[in-house]
Formats: sequence, structure tokens, C-alpha cells
Amino acid sequence: MGSHAPFSARSPALRLEIVAQCPTTKARVTRMHLPHFVADMPMFMPVGTQGTMKGLTTQQLEDLDCHVILGNTYHLGQALLDEAQGLHKFMNWNRGLLTASSIDSGGFQMVSLLKLAEITEASWMADGVEFEAPHDGSRMLLTPEKSIDLQNSIGADIMMQLDDVVSSLTTGPRLEEAMYRSIRWLDRCIKAHKRPQEQNLFGIIQGGLEPALRRICIDEMVKRDLPGYAIGGLSGGEEKDQFWRIVTLCTDLLPKDKPRYCMGVGYAEDLVVCSALGVDMFDCVFPTRTARFGNALTASGPMVLRQTQYEHDYRPIEEDCDCLTCKGYTRAYLHTVVTKETIGCHLVSIHNISYQMRLMRGIRESIIAGTFPEFVRTFMVKRFGEGNIPQWIVNAMQSVNIYL
Ligand SMILES: [Zn+2]
Repeated sequence: MGSHAPFSARSPALRLEIVAQCPTTKARVTRMHLPHFVADMPMFMPVGTQGTMKGLTTQQLEDLDCHVILGNTYHLGQALLDEAQGLHKFMNWNRGLLTASSIDSGGFQMVSLLKLAEITEASWMADGVEFEAPHDGSRMLLTPEKSIDLQNSIGADIMMQLDDVVSSLTTGPRLEEAMYRSIRWLDRCIKAHKRPQEQNLFGIIQGGLEPALRRICIDEMVKRDLPGYAIGGLSGGEEKDQFWRIVTLCTDLLPKDKPRYCMGVGYAEDLVVCSALGVDMFDCVFPTRTARFGNALTASGPMVLRQTQYEHDYRPIEEDCDCLTCKGYTRAYLHTVVTKETIGCHLVSIHNISYQMRLMRGIRESIIAGTFPEFVRTFMVKRFGEGNIPQWIVNAMQSVNIYL
């Protein structure tokens, strides 16, 4: 297969082209050829809500150079999606689209599971996961078959398997059970998948913070020879030092000719660290969610635009940002509209997505230029200040030969 693996029988809808490999770290630049787009990676994928990005149009997402976005379609209904010939057409998005197996990586899933945790397992978990619809409280049982059927109607370039999600702090038998169940459900997803020529099914590696369980899960899932793999079950409040060790274990064991996707990761420092550890794809609701509270992402950390210090500040959020918001609006203006007017959330969202895209572009360019270790040092010093870089980041980077 090599670095220019062709679309294969087992992966007819995805080809990974390795563009550059960092000689120091595990970071790499790849191009993922999907049915709708060729995505440059490492990349950040913004999360869409209810078929449209919160406050952003698909044209704006294109202008921001987003290559793949996450679509959440729970409320749309399968009949409508079939009638509209899939979500790409329905939302007028012609680039890469990824769908999660269920509702929303940003909360409903976990809430429902916690709520249902008291129910005896045998009665509900054997077949699927029961969800509560956020808008009307109605219940539905999502099985692996139902999830794939729905995602086949959505028609995204990448769809995620249904997995048994447990909190990243879960340990013991429940964790082991969730891992094995996710493997069994993956097999049911593979069997139910009716459009492998046009859509890629990714497996989700589970196993919490237990290296032994992660190894078993990877071993089993890699045997299924899927087009790509996600690292799931992290970013749930675990110690960061445990987080990066699991990520690096997974990237060590996952095949190099397949994309690796770290789910639910979106803080700038995490994106830099995980890119260095060999992750290709990221998603997170954080940039748009924090925009709602008037927080703008910047190289030196979040800027809380509500604060009175910005009342008479006529500079853009970031001088070197070329987004629509920074080109046309001042911090003073944003200060008066954030958290009050829709336009405030909208403008800060544009900047925040732009910030993420710029960061990922910087990562890719520095890997290609052979200056990625220097990029990491500069980024961390700017973000935390000299001598203030968190120990977990120092440890993580030391594991890939960058000494901060
Ligand atoms: Zn900007």
C-alpha cells in the first residue's frame, strides 16, 4: 500500500496520501481523499448543530477554508433526508461531511446515558442505546443497524459507528464491557452499512484510561480493516497526563496508512500536542460554544469580550487575523453586542473557527517546512508564557523529542 495507497476494495471511498512526516515527532501532513472533498490534515472540523452551523452559513465555512464539518441531524428525520437526497444537498455543503452515530457529541448523549445508568443493563444495552430527544423528551432506542441506516440516508463522507460510551473516568468491569460491546456493535454496523462505495465507516477505539483495554480494542478493530479510526472516550475530565499517554499509545498502534481522529478535542494546546502525537482529525463544539459567551480565541488564550477593559478598545480581536470579524469590527463594538445580540455570537464564532483553521494551517505548514518543533515551542510560550507551560505538555512533548 505505501504512502499512496489506492482506493482499495476495503476502502473504496477514502484514500490517504501522506504528504510529509515530521522527522522529530509523530506529526504528519496528509491529504484525505473523500467522495466530496480532499481534506488537508491535521485538521479541525467545526461541529454543526441541527443541520446548520450555529450562526454560520455554509458559504462562510467555505470562506474560512473548512474542509470537513460535523453534521448533526437528529431532529431532521429520515424521511426528509431521503427526500432531500442527503444532508450535503439539504444544507448546501459540497465539501467533506462527518456524522456521529447518534445525536450530539456535545452533551445529550452523555446526559442520557447517565440518566439511564440506573436501568438494568440487560434490558436495554444489549440491543442499543436509548436516547431522549432534547426538544420533546421522547425516547428512542438507537441500535447499530438503525444508526447506520440513518447515516446512510444522511450520506456523509465519514460516519461513525455506534459505540457504548462511558465516561473517561469509568473503571473496572463496566469499562471492559463497554469496550467489548463497542467491538460487537462495530460488526453490526459493518454488516448494516449499505453504501461502502460512497461512505466511510470509522471504528471508535474504546478502553478508557486502561492501556491493556485500548490494545485489545485496537487489535480487534484493525482486523476489520476500516477506512479510518477514531480515539473515543477521552476529554471527559481525566488527568491531562493520562489523556496524552492514551492518545500516543493509540497512534503508535493504529495503522499509519489510515486517518486517526481524536474525538471531542478542540483546545488549541490539545490540537498542537495531539498533532505532534500523530493525530490527523479533531472536532469540538468549544469554539462556537464559547463564542456564545463572548469569548474569543487568541494566541495568548481566550479574550473575554464582556470585560469592561474592551469598552473603548478599537483594535480587532487579533491584529494578524484575516477573518471577516477582525477585518471589520473592533473589540469595542464586539463588547457591546456579545451575549446580547445574535450578531455578536455570529461574529465571534467566525473569528474562533478562523483561529482554529489558522492554527491547523500553521501546524501543517511547519511540518512541511521541517520546523514543527520550533512551531510548538513558539506556540506554547505565547500561549502560557515562558516557564509556565503545564507539566503534562512538557511531558507529552518530551515523549516526541521536543524539549520545552
Ligand atoms: Zn479574526
